[in-house]
Amino acid sequence: MKCQFRASLRNDAQLALQVTLILGKSLRIWFGGRVSFSGHADFMNRSEQICAALRTAILERALLPGMKLPEDSLGERFGSSRTIVRQALERLAAEGLVELRRNRGAVVATPSLEEARDLFDLRSQIEDLVVSRLVAKLSKSDLEALNAHVAKEIEAENGPEPVSIRLATEFHILMARLTESPVLIRYVEDVGYRCGLTLALYSRPHSTDCGIQEHREIIEALSNKDEARARDLMRHHLGAVADRALIKPEKEGRSLYLDALEPYARAVREEK
Ligand SMILES: [Zn+2]
Repeated sequence: MKCQFRASLRNDAQLALQVTLILGKSLRIWFGGRVSFSGHADFMNRSEQICAALRTAILERALLPGMKLPEDSLGERFGSSRTIVRQALERLAAEGLVELRRNRGAVVATPSLEEARDLFDLRSQIEDLVVSRLVAKLSKSDLEALNAHVAKEIEAENGPEPVSIRLATEFHILMARLTESPVLIRYVEDVGYRCGLTLALYSRPHSTDCGIQEHREIIEALSNKDEARARDLMRHHLGAVADRALIKPEKEGRSLYLDALEPYARAVREEK
């Protein structure tokens, strides 16, 4: 009996040893997994950085609708593999900023005037919801964030127009983020970026003053908790943006080369 007990102890000890070994192996596998996971995280970050740089370049009209985006050239510019570039392009395709054509590679999307009208209509409806939500929950720090963004818009006023247009789009995305509603954030980003693209395609030069003043008035109505006025201002503001945007057919003299992408690509390369 005693002997059997010892034997079982020994067995238990062996079992424990085996468990430790297996666990050790699992832990190594797990840590191995973590290493590859963190590798994966870098991979994601890289492709997200490229995605963000390309998005900004499209919104700032460095890359114009219809321009080809060859994976190998982009890979060279960003100092990344084609796989990482492809992942960034797929994400931009999901946002509607890029079209992926079978066997012919990616191009900057060219929404039709009809699509552009629908996008602006949709945008107006979604942002109406954003305004209603914000009036109910706007905090002091939310107001500060909105005012700080308008200050950036004012600062950029005398700079290149595409930067002003991007900042104007980002004002609306900031409003959506302040609602803390993942659904509103997702749709405002999606529709907002695509409207930004149609601005690149169809807009005529316009006074950005007007946009900034309109943004200020919206903030003021929000801070006064005047929901009716804030919604009214937003509807008129987006109507005016759409009127400015949906005027002119495709621009002449578009740049055909990726050279305009260089400042955006350099920033990503230097982050390495
Ligand atoms: Zn605006």
